[in-house]
Amino acid sequence: MDRKANGRTIGLQVKGVLVLTFIVLIAISSGGWLYYMVTARMLRANDVHEAERLARALAVAAAPNMVGGKLQAVRKLTVAALDHPNVHHVCVVDRRGGVIMTAGGRGPDIPAVGLASERPTLSYDIQRGENFLEMGRPIIAPGRTGQARLVGGVRMLVDTRATARILAGVQEEMGLSAALVLVCAIPLGLLLVWRVVGLPVGRLVRATRRLSEGDFSARVETHRNDEIGELACSFNTMAERLNASQQQLRLANESLERKVAERTGELERANRRLRHEMDEKEDFLRAVSHDLSAPLRNIAGMATMISMKYAPALPEEVQTRLERIQANVASETDLIAELLELSRIRTRPQRRQRVDFGELLNELAGSFEYELKQKQIELIVHQPMPVLHVARNRMRQVLQNLVDNAIKYMDRATGGRIEVRHEEREGMHRFSVSDNGPGIRPEEQDRIFYIFGRAASARSANLPGRGVGLASVRSIAQTYDGWAWVESAEGAGSTFHVTLDAKRTAAPGEEEAAAPAAAGAEAG
Ligand code: ADP
Repeated sequence: MDRKANGRTIGLQVKGVLVLTFIVLIAISSGGWLYYMVTARMLRANDVHEAERLARALAVAAAPNMVGGKLQAVRKLTVAALDHPNVHHVCVVDRRGGVIMTAGGRGPDIPAVGLASERPTLSYDIQRGENFLEMGRPIIAPGRTGQARLVGGVRMLVDTRATARILAGVQEEMGLSAALVLVCAIPLGLLLVWRVVGLPVGRLVRATRRLSEGDFSARVETHRNDEIGELACSFNTMAERLNASQQQLRLANESLERKVAERTGELERANRRLRHEMDEKEDFLRAVSHDLSAPLRNIAGMATMISMKYAPALPEEVQTRLERIQANVASETDLIAELLELSRIRTRPQRRQRVDFGELLNELAGSFEYELKQKQIELIVHQPMPVLHVARNRMRQVLQNLVDNAIKYMDRATGGRIEVRHEEREGMHRFSVSDNGPGIRPEEQDRIFYIFGRAASARSANLPGRGVGLASVRSIAQTYDGWAWVESAEGAGSTFHVTLDAKRTAAPGEEEAAAPAAAGAEAG
């Protein structure tokens, strides 16, 4: 990460220097080229001007001699023209182009150059190769009528190597100064790029790194008003906002933690209070049931004793009443026992074990065989049934209650049918017991799951019952994070459903991490 960031910084500086060098190079070369071109043009123009001046001077000097036929004087003038250091070759021709005098040399380094023009009448200048310039000028003299007339021509080859040397020197000097400028520009450029880009960007990179590592106090000092200054200001604003949000988050977190701690404390206190109250309720129920059972047993004992001791002397009506007392006492004792058991379902969970529901239902079918046969009811258990890790007695209590009710409330003389099903969906085991009995009115379907809740039809039909069974069924389902309810319509049978959370019914090794608290309570 660090090396990457450093690499990027160096790269940026090198790129800046390269760009700067490139710009300096372009500026130097285009300026130099312009300077060279202007200089060359000026020197060449000067050459032409000088050559023209020489040719014109010779033409003017030779003109009267040409008219007067003094060819010897013309020849002398021609040779004298060679005295000029730049004049390499001179030729004077007559009106028809015939050579009067040609003079000049050819050194070992001088190429063989001739005078090209065949037309002495014309003024011309021709660049001959790199180093020579040929200049042609007419020799004009006044005629008899006073009109100017052409009498011959001067052709002159002027050496321009001095100009070429000057230009070569200019090129050399320009190269040297360009190299000098570059040598100075590179370190200067480096310094400039480092000051302008490298240094502030480096500061920004370091501050960004600190921020990313969680140091929200990171800031970049800046007094610049360019884009980098703007970037640094934006960074500082962003860091300040982040810092503020971080503070708010921390405060919110602390207050949340405080609230959670408070709520947890409240919950723990409520839990303790609840457990205490439940223990108290259980003690109370035990005491009440004991206190009620004792006199009830006493009454039953007295009634039995009276009927046995005075049986022959007692009129039949008294005998019957004594028997009714005994039956009522037995019924109340059972009710007290059932209520006590109901209160213990949630407070005293039983040990869990592996239960095969197929076997359990077989066993139940056997125990109900007599009633089923008597009422001609068919009991169908749909396979497969699961094997769960549950409290066997509680499960037996659930299924027994449901099948018992289905048999008890069956109003058909023949064709009665009870079906038991199991399915697992959305993490819940669902057991369903359906019958084709009388059904339950919608407004009574919830009430029957409360203690002493009985349907009006059951009461009017005078069927025995205390309204505790379904309350126990729902209570047992709740200990497995499940529920119990009924789907029914009057005259269309009923289906009772009981669900158990799959996590709470799995073998200890297969339970998920969420289950241990509940499993612990269950095992206790
Ligand atoms: P109990 O059967 O002792 O009255 P339960 O709690 O088992 O008490 O049942 C509550 C009431 O629900 C019953 O009194 C009855 O009215 C109704 N009930 C239960 N099962 C059935 C059923 N299979 N068909 C019709 N009604 C039923």
